[in-house]
Amino acid sequence: MKFELPALPYAVNALEPVISARTVEFHWGKHEAAYINNLNNLIAGTPFEAETLEEILLKSDGAIYNNAAQAWNHIFFFFQLAPNAKREPGGALRQAIDEDFGSFAAFQEAFVKAGTTLFGSGWAWLSVKPNGKLEITQGPNAQNPLKNGVTPLLTADVWEHAYYLDYQNRRADFLSALWDIIDWKVVEKRYEDTL
Ligand code: MN
Repeated sequence: MKFELPALPYAVNALEPVISARTVEFHWGKHEAAYINNLNNLIAGTPFEAETLEEILLKSDGAIYNNAAQAWNHIFFFFQLAPNAKREPGGALRQAIDEDFGSFAAFQEAFVKAGTTLFGSGWAWLSVKPNGKLEITQGPNAQNPLKNGVTPLLTADVWEHAYYLDYQNRRADFLSALWDIIDWKVVEKRYEDTL
């Protein structure tokens, strides 16, 4: 198999109480594993077998795109979380957030709103545009901002499978709680890589 489910850099119960061990076991161990497994089956015997996950999502559409983007998005989401997270951005990223959104609190409010108001399943994103400006977007299903020529820095999965075991219908509560485990050290590194 070309792609394998990466090992998470923390224990399945490490994100509690924000995300339960049971949710990590299903969300990562079942849903993400299924996207990767589906992708491997779909690309078997095709030129995509020689490509990276990012190349595949940029070049594909339909089922291959859906599974490649979901595989990529979940790695991006889970690897920005940590039990002992740096809970506020600093440095150049903090400056950019203050400049483009007014304040970190205003950014957080706008990001939660993007996730809360997305109808159905999808993702909320913080990305940096080619001109250096930050933007918050929302997209349905397996949407990924790389397709739009911007560089994602942070994401929130708002598919029901991301929160229903722990929060049932309370998506906004899930999004607000996520701030406790979003590791801004990871997001700062992503931003610095674009400078
Ligand atoms: Mn998900």
